Amino acid sequence: MSDIIQLLPDHVANQIAAGEVIQRPASAVKELIENAVDAGATRIQLLIKDAGKSLIQVIDDGKGMTVTDLRLAFERHATSKIKLATDLFQLNTKGFRGEALASIAAVAHVEAHSRTELDKVASCIKIEGTKIVSQEVTVAPVGTSIAIRNLFFNIPARRNFLKTDTVELRHCIDEFQRVALAHPDISFSFLNNGSELFDLPASNLKRRLAQIMGGKFDEKIVAIEEDTPIAQFRGFLVKPNFTKKSRGQQFFFVNQRFVKSAFLHHAVSAAYEGLLRDGYQPGYFIFLQIDPAHIDINIHPTKTEIKFSDEQSLYAILKSAVKHSLGMFQVTPPLDFDRDPSMDPSYATAQSVPKNPSIEVDASFNPFDQNGVQHTTKTTKWDSLYAGFETATSESLQLPLEEGGAGPKVFQVFQKYIVSSVRSGLLVIDQQRAHQRVLYEQFLNYLTGQSAPQQQLLFPLQKEISPYEKNLLTQNSDALHALGFDAQIKGEALILNAIPSVCSETQIHEVLDAILEMDQNTTESFSPSDLMAKIMARSLSITAGKRLTSQEQEQLIHDLFACKETQISPFNRQIFVTLEKGELEKKMN
Ligand code: ADP
Ligand code: MG
Repeated sequence: MSDIIQLLPDHVANQIAAGEVIQRPASAVKELIENAVDAGATRIQLLIKDAGKSLIQVIDDGKGMTVTDLRLAFERHATSKIKLATDLFQLNTKGFRGEALASIAAVAHVEAHSRTELDKVASCIKIEGTKIVSQEVTVAPVGTSIAIRNLFFNIPARRNFLKTDTVELRHCIDEFQRVALAHPDISFSFLNNGSELFDLPASNLKRRLAQIMGGKFDEKIVAIEEDTPIAQFRGFLVKPNFTKKSRGQQFFFVNQRFVKSAFLHHAVSAAYEGLLRDGYQPGYFIFLQIDPAHIDINIHPTKTEIKFSDEQSLYAILKSAVKHSLGMFQVTPPLDFDRDPSMDPSYATAQSVPKNPSIEVDASFNPFDQNGVQHTTKTTKWDSLYAGFETATSESLQLPLEEGGAGPKVFQVFQKYIVSSVRSGLLVIDQQRAHQRVLYEQFLNYLTGQSAPQQQLLFPLQKEISPYEKNLLTQNSDALHALGFDAQIKGEALILNAIPSVCSETQIHEVLDAILEMDQNTTESFSPSDLMAKIMARSLSITAGKRLTSQEQEQLIHDLFACKETQISPFNRQIFVTLEKGELEKKMN
């Protein structure tokens, strides 16, 4: 047999390596911004188009590259940041693998301009899928500008694998924020499709946090500071009553590099124990400075995982430091969880008698009234209910009419389920899931047809929002309007003039928070407006523990069986179960 082993050509090897380093536009964003930081830039501009799918450009005023360096920078294993293997243990830069630019050049169209302070002219290089197309002299300021177009143009599978623009943009924003938080002394800006998402002047950490997380954030945090011979901790903790249910406020940086560390997270969570409302997450922005010799950052190509040589001590130090600062600022118990000033009712609400959320009841409705106008539609729904009764005899597959045409007998058990007797057996309905389904379909109708009824607020409601939240609301303004919100954005505040009628003023804060925290990563198969309808259905639905009058119970059953889908809640849970007469009789034996 002849020899069969061959060395992979460079462009193939580069493409394979690229797959590890550049998974989506956000990975390129991260690598380019980090290079700019490593180059000593004081100002970094990020411009993207179509969530980075068509263009990602980073412009910096760092030290720049010479003609030769600019060409070499795109070779694999080309780096100016380490020379010896031992340098790996003294890393003070973000990059060191010399892989990012080569990987990017392997899977995109790249155009880079760069000039050092010592050079009179700049050079410009164009590369397409590893091939250098041109390199020439040009005019440009000191610093570097790298533009990446048509990412994954030569890997269609990768390109098709990319998520919607909303999701990819969210990833880009995440990466941008991580670097921007780690370097408050550098000024950053971020434009997407020509509109400004962030403009962050050079500042200190506290102000940078407020710039990114939204106005008044500095009032919601307390400082953490701890110096020990093995490590120093600095940063801020979110006061327990300002924490959120999402994990969007959890940032660890080790030597100014964003990292994920389950064990550091655990240490902080342990310190917050007993201080958080149910389901709320600790919020923290913690910067750890540690001798690079004591960490190993080299275990993952995208470098967010980290190993420490002395985990146990770090855990103990961090936990006590967090406890200390939470205690020092008197945010430990006794703590009034129920009073979060941002949740206080508006003046109008405070004046009015609180209205209990209620289910509208059409008292005249009887689903079993043969002459009823709604009867025809209901019949089909009730019929479909029996589709599940596969073992039922054809005799039992009838409308659940009791003798004399009386309606179904309904009652509530455990303040959680509604039980209804039907001719072939029993129906047990989860009241919360049923109501979620009803509301969800109602909201979908508003999104696709007539807009939801609104209630005008006597005093417009104001809420501070972050730049990200602002962007989210702007992008979804049509959906919000259709769902019944009359919202305006003024500077860093959201102003609500009207809210959906289904919502009471006391519920509106929770609904808004849920919308603002909507995790775009779950939108894979749904549109953002669909997600919004789900979120509102979840926030506004009745829950277990709510006692319902028999009229309300009947109305809910009626509304449920008027839905397009009756069996599954918007969150994919079973809405009801059936207990068939036959099954019951078997049990009786
Ligand atoms: P690494 O950052 O791991 O060294 P990269 O592929 O990201 O590898 O970059 C290769 C080299 O190109 C860097 O080591 C650096 O010398 C140079 N370089 C990249 N981007 C810039 C920039 N914005 N300004 C100056 N030099 C840069
Ligand atoms: Mg790099």
